[in-house]
Parts: sequence; structure tokens; C-alpha cells
Amino acid sequence: MNTDALVRQARQLFDDYLKAHRLRRTPERFAVLETLYRTNNHADAEEIYRQLRRRRYAISRATVYNTLDLLVKCELAVRHQFEPHLARYERAYGSRQHDHLICLNCRQVVEFCDPRIHAISTRMGELFGYRISGHSLILYGYCSNCQSQNHHAKPSAKSSVNDLPKSAP
Ligand SMILES: [Zn+2]
Ligand SMILES: [Zn+2]
Repeated sequence: MNTDALVRQARQLFDDYLKAHRLRRTPERFAVLETLYRTNNHADAEEIYRQLRRRRYAISRATVYNTLDLLVKCELAVRHQFEPHLARYERAYGSRQHDHLICLNCRQVVEFCDPRIHAISTRMGELFGYRISGHSLILYGYCSNCQSQNHHAKPSAKSSVNDLPKSAP
């Protein structure tokens, strides 16, 4: 499914959710949804906030946070806690199950999919009599770019992986 179709369907689902819960259906809320769905990164609330401000939305941080919470509640978004003090979000609708590799230096996130992980989860469910509803696996390390920077002690200015903020601990 292309992104436009995905956004359209996600907007419809969000609209239904807001209606059903008698919540306000404001353009700002839909803008948060759309920004999240058009971002390929795993964005944090601050990045989404800044993107919307750049696009001249009169939106508050509180609305961004509050809308992201709603999107998680209605399962249109997933919240990741890759680092203790920074939650990142990604779209959930129309995306397949995957796991993440994260670079501890530049914080680039890479997605991967390995059917063996599904096999482990099925097997463990059987073994312990659990009905498995999901899993989370994050691999931490240093990406090849950061490894070579360390070896040669020269920062690469053209790195494309630095578009995530570095402020969080
Ligand atoms: Zn890196
Ligand atoms: Zn992901």
C-alpha cells in the first residue's frame, strides 16, 4: 500500500476512534498522525512537534504528546523505549512486525525481520502454555559508520544518520 492510501485509512480509523470516544477531531491531531505516518524514522515527540511548527501549525507540545498517547491507545502507533528517557513512536497500521537495531552513538535505528524470532516466540508459548501476544527485541551496538569514526578519530560531516536529536541522555 502506498503512503497516501495508508494515511487516508489511518486518518479514517483515527476519526472513528475520536468520534467513538467523543474526543475533539481537530486538524492538529490529524496533523500529528499524518506526520508520524510520513516519517520513516522512529520519531520522538519533540521531532514531530518541530516538524509541525516548521509547517506553521499552531500546535502545543501538550497536544503532540496527548495525540501520540491517543494514537498508541487506538493502536495506530507503537511507542518504543529504546533509551530510558526517550520514547519514540512509529506507525503501527500497515506495517509488519519487525525488530530494531540501535546505534548507541548516533542513535540510528535499523529495522530487521527474522522469522526465527517468530519461531522462538511460538515455541516458548507452547512450552509455557502462554498465548503470546507480541514481543520486543532491541539490539544495541555501534553502526559501521560510528565504528570507523572511532578508529580514525575524524567525525564525518556528511553523515545522514544524524537527523535525530542528541539531547537526551
Ligand atoms: Zn552510529
Ligand atoms: Zn520500527
